[in-house]
Amino acid sequence: MRQLPPLAPLRGQPRPPVASAREGARAAWPCASPALVRCLTAALVAVSLVGCGAASLSSPPSPSSPSAPGKAALGSRPAAPRSAVAGVGHRSFLWSYHGRYDPAHWGERYCLCRGGRRQSPVDLRADRHVVGRGDEVVARTLHVRHVLNNGHTVQIGVDHVETLFVRGRAYRLLQLHFHTPAEHTTGGVRAPMELHLVHRSAQGDVAVVSVLFQVGPESPWLARLWRDLPSKSGQVVAEDVTLPVREVVGAWRGAWVYEGSLTTPPCTEGVHWLVLKGRQTASAAQIAGIHKLLGDNARPLQSRGARHITDER
Ligand SMILES: [Zn+2]
Repeated sequence: MRQLPPLAPLRGQPRPPVASAREGARAAWPCASPALVRCLTAALVAVSLVGCGAASLSSPPSPSSPSAPGKAALGSRPAAPRSAVAGVGHRSFLWSYHGRYDPAHWGERYCLCRGGRRQSPVDLRADRHVVGRGDEVVARTLHVRHVLNNGHTVQIGVDHVETLFVRGRAYRLLQLHFHTPAEHTTGGVRAPMELHLVHRSAQGDVAVVSVLFQVGPESPWLARLWRDLPSKSGQVVAEDVTLPVREVVGAWRGAWVYEGSLTTPPCTEGVHWLVLKGRQTASAAQIAGIHKLLGDNARPLQSRGARHITDER
């Protein structure tokens, strides 16, 4: 499709090539046999990832899914279940943020969740500072097609347009979703909400643009889109809404950039993260309403290890 003029330049310096999520899983696989075979299989065939999972986003659920679209005013329905079964090929698995299948237990099935060395989220304290042209957000608008409650988060399905360029490689936006509270922290401080825009290149590389929210004026695009929300796990609400990208991600004020992982099982590594420094605002009622649906769905902070975090301006 026609490439649109740059909207918000994302600046940076050349970095090593981003390994694909699949390559990252192979390179950093931490477990020994026989767990290796079981876990590798689970990681590579996972097709029902949620949250930051990229694989699931390549085939978004149809708004005409057998799951009857349910609509609910924001915060007016009971909270969605805090765990859900997701199909993985011929298998099924269970994970959640609380109880028996909470993040402390993800590693029992997904080795990278326990033994990975480049995991997300992390506390963002930059040790490199770069000024220069790097990545770019190029789309002007997002066309929202549906909103899905998958039991772990509320996911916004969009047209798969090219919205991001990382070192000249085009990435298509797959979906947006929320975490309450935020997963990344900045200098130890946690924001009340974080939006993830998950992208994938034609080569399979995954990049996530993250937007942190703070309490303030109401978010117009949230107000427009979230008048009706799927309140139950598995529900899909059809939408036909066009959103200006600038309204969603805000003006460019720099970003923390690092190499990490999906923040949900199978915790696949090789994910290029850009956490925007410019905060967006949403009203306390909006954030509370989303949290009422999601509950606490933030993975605990992971060790930064020897990784660098770059402050790009
Ligand atoms: Zn996420």
